[in-house]
Amino acid sequence: MSRAPSLAERLAGSVRAKLLVLVLAPLLLGVPLLLGLVWSWGNEAYERLLGFKISSDLVTAHEYFERVKSGVGRDLSALANSRLLANAMAHSAPATLQRQLQSMALADGLDFLRLLNADGTLRASAAQSSQLPAAWLAMPAVAAALAGGAFTSIELVGPNALEHIDPALRRRAYLPLVPTEAAAPDPRSVEDRGMVIHAAAPVLDDAGRLAGVLEGGVLLNGNLAIVDRINAIVYKEGSLPLGSLGTATLFLGDTRIATNVRLFEGRRALGTRVSKAVRDQVLGAGKDWLGTAFVVNDHYVSGYEPVVNGAGQRIGMLYVGFLEAPLRQAKQLGMFALFAIFLVVSGIGTVLSLRWARSVFKPIERMNAVIQRIERGDAAARVGPLASRDEVGRLAGEFDHLLDTLAAKQAELRRWADELDRKVMERTAELAETNASLRRAQQQLVMSEKLAAIGELTAGVAHEINNPVAVIQGNLDVLREVLGPDAEPVREEIRLIHQQADRIRQIVTKLLQFARPGEFAGYVEAVDVNGLINDCLVLTRHNLEKREIEVHTRLEAGVGIEINRSELQQVLINLIVNAVQAMPNGGRLDLASADWFEDGLHLGAVIHVSDTGQGIAGEDLDRIFDPFFTTKKGSGTGLGLSISYTIVQRYGGRITVSSTPGAGSAFSVWLRSQPEYDDSPSAPGFEARWRRSQESGAAGA
Ligand code: ADP
Repeated sequence: MSRAPSLAERLAGSVRAKLLVLVLAPLLLGVPLLLGLVWSWGNEAYERLLGFKISSDLVTAHEYFERVKSGVGRDLSALANSRLLANAMAHSAPATLQRQLQSMALADGLDFLRLLNADGTLRASAAQSSQLPAAWLAMPAVAAALAGGAFTSIELVGPNALEHIDPALRRRAYLPLVPTEAAAPDPRSVEDRGMVIHAAAPVLDDAGRLAGVLEGGVLLNGNLAIVDRINAIVYKEGSLPLGSLGTATLFLGDTRIATNVRLFEGRRALGTRVSKAVRDQVLGAGKDWLGTAFVVNDHYVSGYEPVVNGAGQRIGMLYVGFLEAPLRQAKQLGMFALFAIFLVVSGIGTVLSLRWARSVFKPIERMNAVIQRIERGDAAARVGPLASRDEVGRLAGEFDHLLDTLAAKQAELRRWADELDRKVMERTAELAETNASLRRAQQQLVMSEKLAAIGELTAGVAHEINNPVAVIQGNLDVLREVLGPDAEPVREEIRLIHQQADRIRQIVTKLLQFARPGEFAGYVEAVDVNGLINDCLVLTRHNLEKREIEVHTRLEAGVGIEINRSELQQVLINLIVNAVQAMPNGGRLDLASADWFEDGLHLGAVIHVSDTGQGIAGEDLDRIFDPFFTTKKGSGTGLGLSISYTIVQRYGGRITVSSTPGAGSAFSVWLRSQPEYDDSPSAPGFEARWRRSQESGAAGA
């Protein structure tokens, strides 16, 4: 079962994939890395920027708060040194002095204003029922002023002390605590202390001696004017981007006593408390807090700094901050936009790289496909024309050229191979032919030798037989003469002996004719075939009549034939005798002669001998000219036709036969008017007949 190739295998199997990875790897690895760096650097820069911003905001807020504080001090010093106060002190009744202080406090925005005698006793106060316990003289500003110097500080004032200054102040300072998430636990439910800007300045008489002390201050609890002012200065209209919200707060301890941070439904978050983390760092460790903090109900970029009293103790905090969410959203939006641009650019880059790589690798891929098609047997496969004009494109062109050259060479090779095959076949056929003719020559040689041997043998035997036969016949004649009339009773026997002896002589003569045909050819003369046919009929009449055979002749040959007359007569008589023997119960014999024309040439004459006898069996037809082939067991020699054929063939003629078994046979003797001699025993007709007689083993013998 085949399985789908893994990514690694596909990568290993494709140059294109490898180069693509090479090209895309920097993009795919670099872009995320770059995005990561941009993300972290962006965040860092963003945090740093926020840090700078909030730190400078805090400085601005601090400066303003200090200005307010020192403003209170300056105002108070100015009042202490004013003629107005000096006059009032010198001349006014206590009630007038009180009114004077009230109007001064009102004019300078002071929440309380009191005049102390040089001995530290209360002389007058803007408030109605003011008291001055001895402990108050230890307040840094009061102590400094009694010592002759002006001093301003932020101080925490307990509820009783506030009551002593002005019961209204105590009421104003009273602030229920709002339970706040993440704040340090506080068992109290109310903040009743007050945080004040407390200033005091010495009042000197004309002689420059201390005449009293003027002390006053501003209660910061619930003093929204200051925080709103800070907020307005630090976060001027439009100074914060993207709709962020600036806030400012004054803390007493960790409690918001003046703030523009809204809780909900627009209510200021007075009485809520700072988170424990901020409190521990700012109030506990005395360090500024710069960074993001959860303020009341949202994250703010926040700056906190401790507020220190005259004795150097941390008594509260000053805070400025702005809502982070819009900035964070803007930052994230920016980052995302950046990422999106990066991704889009990378995507476009990747797509372009892929398309470019495809155009670069198209020729290679087409070459690869062509190789595969060729391997599958498509020899005509080619890369074809390509748009690419670079080295790879040219290589593909060269590849096609190479394939064309290869195909041409292959075709040439195939042609050569075919040519070679053809030549091998030709040579093989020639060899076979040579072999065959060699074999034929060999057979002819063997046959010639055999024939020669047979000839010698036959001649010897014939000579040896003829002589005794002649002696027998001679003695037979002597016997007949000697016996005279006494021979009459055995006349028939003598005749038979004579006849059989004659037959022996005939056979021997025929044998000799067969073995040495040339020796028996007599002289050649112009023979009239029609006349010869009639002569033959005369010679065979006795036989014909005995068998009641009807004879018909149609003698139309017009030319004489150059041949030995007795040989031709022997041939014809042999044919007539065969025909007679084929019709034991009578029949019809047709003898005809005609001129022999071939291709418009008058070659000679043809003699037809036809009978209505038993005919020749198909399988025998081929063999009747073979020497010793006979179907006449006992009476036939099988030499008649064979010798006839040899005679006719020797003069350049031939004998043909056609026969229908049961209906009769027709022999034709073709004779040239001018003989074309062929005496060789290896003449095709003779040779074939001899060979057949050898193969069939002299069937009739
Ligand atoms: P033989 O007559 O001694 O047998 P031949 O060579 O003359 O020898 O004839 C060979 C054979 O051909 C005969 O035995 C006979 O079977 C056949 N044959 C020849 N002439 C005829 C004929 N006219 N009709 C039928 N058979 C014939």
